[in-house]
Amino acid sequence: MASTSVSLKSFTGLRQTSPEKPHFPTAVSVCNGSGRRSVIVASRTSPKLAGRNLRVAVIGGGPAGGSAAETLSKGGVETFLIERKLDNCKPCGGAIPLCMVGEFDLPLDIIDRRVTKMKMISPSNVAVDIGQTLKPHEYIGMVRREVLDSYMRTRAAENGATVINGLFLKMDMPKERNGSYVLHYTEYDGGKGGGVGEKKVLEVDAVIGADGANSRVAKSIDAGDYDYAIAFQERIKIPDDKMVYYENLAEMYVGDDVSPDFYGWVFPKCDHVAVGTGTVTHKGDIKKFQLATRNRAKDKILGGKIIRVEAHPIPEHPRPRRLSGRVALVGDAAGYVTKCSGEGIYFAAKSGRMCAEAIVEGSENGKRMIDESDLRKYLEKWDKTYWPTYKVLDILQKVFYRSNPAREAFVEMCADEYVQKMTFDSYLYKTVVPGNPLDDLKLAVNTIGSLVRANALRKEMEKITL
Ligand SMILES: Cc1cc2nc3c(=O)[nH]c(=O)nc-3n(C[C@H](O)[C@H](O)[C@H](O)COP(=O)(O)OP(=O)(O)OC[C@H]3O[C@@H](n4cnc5c(N)ncnc54)[C@H](O)[C@@H]3O)c2cc1C
Repeated sequence: MASTSVSLKSFTGLRQTSPEKPHFPTAVSVCNGSGRRSVIVASRTSPKLAGRNLRVAVIGGGPAGGSAAETLSKGGVETFLIERKLDNCKPCGGAIPLCMVGEFDLPLDIIDRRVTKMKMISPSNVAVDIGQTLKPHEYIGMVRREVLDSYMRTRAAENGATVINGLFLKMDMPKERNGSYVLHYTEYDGGKGGGVGEKKVLEVDAVIGADGANSRVAKSIDAGDYDYAIAFQERIKIPDDKMVYYENLAEMYVGDDVSPDFYGWVFPKCDHVAVGTGTVTHKGDIKKFQLATRNRAKDKILGGKIIRVEAHPIPEHPRPRRLSGRVALVGDAAGYVTKCSGEGIYFAAKSGRMCAEAIVEGSENGKRMIDESDLRKYLEKWDKTYWPTYKVLDILQKVFYRSNPAREAFVEMCADEYVQKMTFDSYLYKTVVPGNPLDDLKLAVNTIGSLVRANALRKEMEKITL
């Protein structure tokens, strides 16, 4: 079984102790007698703001930026949201978990489809139906990003945020302890990010970088790089009779042909399907993988017309640094996409909100200046809450996506109702659900059985290839 063991050390995702270095020390970290670290936070020394509230700029108006701006403005902070393209159509599968609908109070009419059936399709095209354990009210939401992002930005504006259609260029760091950040940006007035625009500056007390995978805010604070996958997607308009099949059904394809380290998907949208795939390890072959994904689904999308082709990086793990002074990164800018599933929308919105809540709390509803220790609380809470989720998905990817036989084993396992329930509950509600010990044991035995079979099969296949 040596080949199925997973090296946890190689995981470079969230870590419980963050390496970010404080700018202006306000908290002292000490080691107590038991060897555990404890943090003594100095009494609040940040000054009260006179005649104005705390000013915060959120760069980027995707789910991370929209939710951050809404929370800040509701919390009494003077909020500026800078988005380069107000009709941005982020390349994305658009699958969101049920808990996002409730937690972010999303109206049902912005959700194109409610998926209650999912087919997991193995390299040899064995299809397993998952979703049988879903309760009548449970579903995976499918959204178009141009709709979701615009809705969340508008709601931030309705709560008092100033939305600026502008391209953030760079920022000057404060010259003194409580000094301002000076942001340089190009403002457009067409709403579409086109035209020459006008160069402008904005002075703020803190900045949230929600500007996605190619974040300029991250560069401004030397946040460091992350490994990334490239994801490719085609939106395909298929005939109405074919669309009936995808009414409330999504497909996931696994296999070396569709991706050596990820999966291919067909997700239903309002009047079309989104067909895509991704890879970290073989980026140069992405179009070949896309063709293979389309081929695997070909009978079901026959007669389809490609209406949009899109590609974008997906971060593989958080940046080495997510915070510096009064600047913090959230969403893809920070690197919060889960491996294995490639999910990032919920985590973007959630991190935006969590970061903004830390600012609202630290500033006592916008009345005081904040410092790095206030933002650090967001990171600590984030890592504590989501570290296990990222770790589990990282392990799953390493175990099950490494060869076609392992993927066959994975699909075989997905037929198990207990696996389906655990997977769906964890995905839909973002909690690692405690299992039933007897079923856990059965699952462990079945998993080992599947992997042993997969391993034996792989060895046989290697012999044939040699
Ligand atoms: C092909 C593909 C499929 C995916 N499918 C799914 C899926 O089905 N489900 C899921 O949960 N996740 C999916 N993801 C991941 C998901 O799209 C991201 O995790 C999510 O969009 C992150 O949100 P965000 O707000 O952090 O960043 P983004 O959504 O990237 O938003 C960043 C915003 O910042 C703006 N911006 C960037 N630079 C500047 C600048 N200099 N000035 C002003 N504005 C700027 C951009 O215009 C954009 O609106 C997918 C990703 C890809 C690429």
